[in-house]
Amino acid sequence: MSNSYDLVVIGAGSGGVRAARMAASYGANVAIIEEFRVGGTCVIRGCVPKKLYVYASRFRDLFDVAPSFGWTVDASFDWPTLVANKEMEITRLEAAYVANLEKPGVEIIRDRAVIADPHTVHLVGQDRDLSARYILVATGGRPFIPAIPGAELGITSNEAFDLPALPHSILIEGGGYIAVEFATIFAGLGVHTTIVYRGDCVLRSFDDDMRRGLEAGLIDRGIKLIYQTTIAALSRDGADIAATFSDGVTAPYGAVMFATGRSANVDGLGLQAAGVTQHANGAVAVDAFSKTAVPSIYAVGDVTGRAALTPVAIREGWYFAETVFNNNPLAVDHSQIPTAVFAEPEMGVIGLTESEAATHGDVDVYLSRFRPMMNTLSSRTERMIIKLITQRDGGKVLGVHILGPGAGEMIQLVAIPMGMGASKSDFDRAMALHPSAAEELVTFKTPSYTYRNGQKIGG
Ligand code: FAD
Repeated sequence: MSNSYDLVVIGAGSGGVRAARMAASYGANVAIIEEFRVGGTCVIRGCVPKKLYVYASRFRDLFDVAPSFGWTVDASFDWPTLVANKEMEITRLEAAYVANLEKPGVEIIRDRAVIADPHTVHLVGQDRDLSARYILVATGGRPFIPAIPGAELGITSNEAFDLPALPHSILIEGGGYIAVEFATIFAGLGVHTTIVYRGDCVLRSFDDDMRRGLEAGLIDRGIKLIYQTTIAALSRDGADIAATFSDGVTAPYGAVMFATGRSANVDGLGLQAAGVTQHANGAVAVDAFSKTAVPSIYAVGDVTGRAALTPVAIREGWYFAETVFNNNPLAVDHSQIPTAVFAEPEMGVIGLTESEAATHGDVDVYLSRFRPMMNTLSSRTERMIIKLITQRDGGKVLGVHILGPGAGEMIQLVAIPMGMGASKSDFDRAMALHPSAAEELVTFKTPSYTYRNGQKIGG
């Protein structure tokens, strides 16, 4: 065990693990410090368990349409089985992450780390110091919990994965992707689900047609939406939790979950004393190469508040290692990041929303709403929505928005032509694949409507 390293990484999540592995592969002597579980938020209590639970919840929709295809299904659901199988899978992934760190020689230290000075990291549990040529802060984010009376009675996404039993009902506060994803998970698993949100429609900052389409999908699945309201207080009500809302109404729920945003994980990290500057929201301020105000301290991932997504944290960690340990300065391009909301219906987006594009010169909007083929034999009326936004007269594609089955997978592929600066004519040249939903993307003939000088024309 050494006390001196080329690189000490704080946090073994998506960004930290990639940076540590890459730096070690370039010959650096690297230690990574983790206070919880190797793999970080994504593997342990984020993307991976979330997607597994989304799969579990989607069987309900399949069972709904199954009779129209001739099937008779007598289904029941067992929550402990899902939780146990999820745990098995994330434990397997955690072991794979450990092996991948150990292979290039990264030392894994299980402890809480605090920065003592620009070249020293203190291990709190072991009460000893490590000296480091470089320190990488990759401590991620944590759920923000509103300061209201009884807040301790609520849970966050951290606890939601491992509830001892499914509640009969749940109130979820928030309107972001974590709120709507967990709402569809719980509703799909049979829990009476309510979203309470201070705004007037879920998923602020997404395209309006997609937001309204997804909202309709939530309502269609029995999810109750309470807008322009917040939770003012929580209290015990027998086995339930009573939520008192900002309008004075009180109602009991089996569980209450806060999905009210996430903040940078920086408390007690010693950043200020070391001279690292932070944004007003606590996120670590970095330059294009992820360097902080202190030349020996870098930061990647959610803690920097750039784009809180796993592939972004991984890319930032990789480029940090290239820049510092491979003499190959690389800056991550944060434009055009494909994003999915794994709700029901699913949403996939890349590029500008319609309202953003309308302020970027003259644009054409191609819009298609149709029943997904899977639903056509059933009485389900839900529409899939596909929207393509281009510069005027078939120019460069500025945004693609998809709501419906497979939206995330489609958007990942759309990210390739978008990154190449594709125009509508490039999409048109592609042969359609039939029958598919994605063929809509390459068969749009005339714009559904346009924006000229910021004014909507037609539609
Ligand atoms: P993290 O993965 O959070 O890792 C930080 C690590 O640092 C943690 O393991 C933590 O324990 C450790 N740590 C913190 N402080 C210290 C300290 N002082 N000492 C030692 N260790 C410390 N992203 C997607 O791209 N797609 C998704 O579908 C998706 N779904 C999500 C669902 C949920 C419910 C959540 C919460 C997040 C989701 N995300 C998703 C976001 C994604 O998980 C994060 O963007 C990603 O994990 C960020 O990686 P990171 O390396 O910055 O931090």
